[in-house]
Amino acid sequence: MAKATGFLEIDREETKSILPEDRVKNFKEFILPSSTKKVSEQASRCMDCGIPFCHNGCPVNNIIPEWNNLVYESDWEMALNVLHSTNNFPEFTGRICPAPCESACTLNLEDNPVTIKNIEKTIIDKGYQKGWVKPLINKNKTNKKVAIVGSGPAGMACAQQLARSGHSVKVYEKNDRIGGLLRYGIPNFKMEKKYINKRIEQMELEGVSFLCNTEIGKDISFNQLNKDFDAIVFAGGAERPRDLEIPGRKLKGIHFAMDFLTQQNKRCEGDNFVGKNEILASNKDVVVIGGGDTGSDCIGTSNRQGAKSVTQLEIMEKPPEKENKLMTWPYWPLKLRTSSSQEEGVQRSWSVATKKFEGKSGNVSKLLLQKINWEKDSLGRMVMKESNENPIELKADLVLLAMGFVSPENDDLFLQSKVKLNSKGNVDANEIDYSTNKRKVFTAGDMRRGQSLVVWAIREGRQAAEAVNRFLLSRKKV
Ligand SMILES: Cc1cc2nc3c(=O)[nH]c(=O)nc-3n(C[C@H](O)[C@H](O)[C@H](O)COP(=O)(O)OP(=O)(O)OC[C@H]3O[C@@H](n4cnc5c(N)ncnc54)[C@H](O)[C@@H]3O)c2cc1C
Ligand code: SF4
Repeated sequence: MAKATGFLEIDREETKSILPEDRVKNFKEFILPSSTKKVSEQASRCMDCGIPFCHNGCPVNNIIPEWNNLVYESDWEMALNVLHSTNNFPEFTGRICPAPCESACTLNLEDNPVTIKNIEKTIIDKGYQKGWVKPLINKNKTNKKVAIVGSGPAGMACAQQLARSGHSVKVYEKNDRIGGLLRYGIPNFKMEKKYINKRIEQMELEGVSFLCNTEIGKDISFNQLNKDFDAIVFAGGAERPRDLEIPGRKLKGIHFAMDFLTQQNKRCEGDNFVGKNEILASNKDVVVIGGGDTGSDCIGTSNRQGAKSVTQLEIMEKPPEKENKLMTWPYWPLKLRTSSSQEEGVQRSWSVATKKFEGKSGNVSKLLLQKINWEKDSLGRMVMKESNENPIELKADLVLLAMGFVSPENDDLFLQSKVKLNSKGNVDANEIDYSTNKRKVFTAGDMRRGQSLVVWAIREGRQAAEAVNRFLLSRKKV
């Protein structure tokens, strides 16, 4: 246990950030690093609970009480080893995970959970500074070849685990850079991309090879891959966005969030978008439809590009300011949250449905909105009822659709491989062997579970790697 009386003596201290008005001037990360002393103090608050709910709340089952104790005792290198034993990429999760572990922490019963996410980030950042993050090269090769389709966190975690087991691993990526949504979805101000580059370097030294600009199912057929490899892992994400097919949808200036976010992420990498396909929020009245994290990323990006105004619309009703702890703990509670991007400036509206887009000279100029009432039906389910009030008009010259993702977008690959899909259109496989109906084909991440979180993708990548490893080592001859 860290310090027996730590949680009684020391209050939770939030991380410090650059002020909203300053950080919107660029796309850099804005969470300020905490001092070693402060983080050690915060770690000392951990009670080393008999049942560590944090450990179960974390999808990769990070061994949190152990590294809290090690940080308190200043054994940072061992803390990093323990952290790496369950999580390949703590520098990703330490920055962008919503931290279900903190919701599950016993001290969250009093709204004061251990600052687990910041402790995790500090351990790995220190690890990089001190040169403790090294390639783990397995010299005992199995001569088995594995192809991974997709280089998001699921594909990366899977590839790293398999290379460390001695297999020869090749990752195929249809985009021009590695990283999936970490690279082109999540904005730089939440996670700078140098962290992905460092891991690519490490993984290449461990024997993983990467091939960009190569779509499996188009540039290389599934049959070819099937011939060349002993096992294949589909980790292509769930990229088909939910659309809003209402009158006016074809007007110019209405875009899917990912088209907008990808361009900005590419700009941050030094690419140029000049001409009619460029999507920019500068000097525009921006409306973001969808109240989730993707919507927040659109807000942060719009403000940094110099939008005139930003409004976010959410069809669901405004959640309560505070959760009922005894009903929800240790699970992720439904409550009003304000993201760092929302903090930077946005007008938020709840219980509104967009009914129509209207335009001038082919460009969107306003939205017609209808107020919604959420009521219980006879079975106690919440149902949506449109109010009789007159529609509300909202000015807009850029509309960003951020209403989630419905399924993978890999029709060619699925047709060629004949893998079975489930009722949601995701690749069908369980969480025990991650194997599809097609022999030697496995799947992990959003492609299997639907759009989710980076930490779940890492978990699935690791577990699928374990399943592939068992499959390969149990086969005598390929
Ligand atoms: C805008 C946005 C912000 C988000 N923010 C957060 C956040 O803050 N925290 C968080 O935890 N989660 C966040 N998420 C969710 C998280 O990014 C995903 O759950 C996670 O990246 C899924 O990982 P994955 O490896 O399964 O798929 P992806 O990251 O989607 O990667 C799949 C990769 O496969 C490639 N691919 C697909 N088909 C093929 C093919 N046939 N051939 C070759 N390559 C192919 C794609 O190009 C892509 O690069 C966010 C999602 C979005 C859209
Ligand atoms: S639940 Fe919180 S206090 Fe308990 S072991 Fe985990 S981090 Fe420590």
